[in-house]
Amino acid sequence: MAFLTEDTALTISFDSPKLGQGRSASFTALRAKFDGWLAKKAQEAGAVLVTGIRVDGLWQEDGRIRGVLVAPNDRVAADVVVIAEGATSVLTRGAGLKADLEPREVSIGVKETIEVPAETIQERFGLGDKEGAAFVFAGQASLGLRGGGFLYTNQSTISLGLVVSSEDLAREKVEIPEVQTRFRMHPAVQRWIRGGKVTEYSAHLVPELGAGMMPRLWGDGVLVAGDAAGFLINNGYTFRGVDLAIASGMAAGEAVEAARAAGGMRAANLAVYEKFLRSRNVLTDLERFRRAPLYMKNERLFDVYPRMLLEIAERLYTVDGRGKERLADIVLREAGAAEVPKWKLLLDLLQGARSM
Ligand SMILES: Cc1cc2nc3c(=O)[nH]c(=O)nc-3n(C[C@H](O)[C@H](O)[C@H](O)COP(=O)(O)OP(=O)(O)OC[C@H]3O[C@@H](n4cnc5c(N)ncnc54)[C@H](O)[C@@H]3O)c2cc1C
Repeated sequence: MAFLTEDTALTISFDSPKLGQGRSASFTALRAKFDGWLAKKAQEAGAVLVTGIRVDGLWQEDGRIRGVLVAPNDRVAADVVVIAEGATSVLTRGAGLKADLEPREVSIGVKETIEVPAETIQERFGLGDKEGAAFVFAGQASLGLRGGGFLYTNQSTISLGLVVSSEDLAREKVEIPEVQTRFRMHPAVQRWIRGGKVTEYSAHLVPELGAGMMPRLWGDGVLVAGDAAGFLINNGYTFRGVDLAIASGMAAGEAVEAARAAGGMRAANLAVYEKFLRSRNVLTDLERFRRAPLYMKNERLFDVYPRMLLEIAERLYTVDGRGKERLADIVLREAGAAEVPKWKLLLDLLQGARSM
């Protein structure tokens, strides 16, 4: 984890060979490759894959979903539709399962894939074969706007990106590419990516309120999964969307099977989706971290506290012949200088511990 001001960084690192071993070993997946692989697996299991066609709406009749409407005037009938359209949730809202999106419910995420030779990555990050490194950045990573940066290594690329509050971008009239460029140019980021070539750029909405923005998850002939359902947990030190999207897709499959056995795709039968979402830890985790998104709206976390931490670190490590202060004295003085009352600092710490 790294806290940034304009030209300084305080990095807290954690090395664990254990995280690279066994069934729970960490890994990165490049979606351009992974999605194709997963789609092939689905086809091998009997799915028919149709790509390159936009769904314009849900085909509703007699109060239930009968299938989807595709351009220009076509319909595709289905016993059940699983909406997995991502955070924009146009179809979900069109089906009356969710109210209009509000700016506070979404952030903008941007990611660059930067090509760097595998040997350079290993040497630069001090990695062995099949080892990786990951960082999260707070503070000036997002120009002090609510949000943060991330960097992780792949075999011969580095993924670098940001997730920034759409409310703050609009209020400050800043474009996300500008924030990303400033982040990329920070010395604490440049040292890892220098000489690299950006080969991919992607950006899209990120649902931010988790359990606080969930639509109705099922109806007659319809289920909602993944980002469209708000299934994402961003608690500052981990950013989980893909695993919840996959787990909710699996839960949707199980619910459809159970509903079929119970007599059909009526809402009452599809309600079993909730049980499967819980057994796959989707709803349980979202509920456990229900407070995290609200905590992450605290502006002090993104500007005042990173600056304070950097000031404290500078004072701790400055040797100028003057007598040294104790850590607690420095912290309290810096809190005073940042105009954060002690009770507020304590409250923020306690709320952080309870939410994250
Ligand atoms: C910059 C960034 C970095 C991220 N990093 C991570 C990470 O490190 N780890 C992690 O777990 N998560 C991460 N996430 C979150 C993760 O990408 C999402 O949670 C995940 O992709 C959700 O999957 P999904 O299938 O629900 O939606 P999506 O991946 O958004 O897929 C929805 C698909 O539906 C298609 N679609 C939408 N509407 C229509 C329509 N009308 N007709 C036809 N097709 C349609 C879209 O084109 C898209 O292909 C990141 C997100 C961003 C933006």
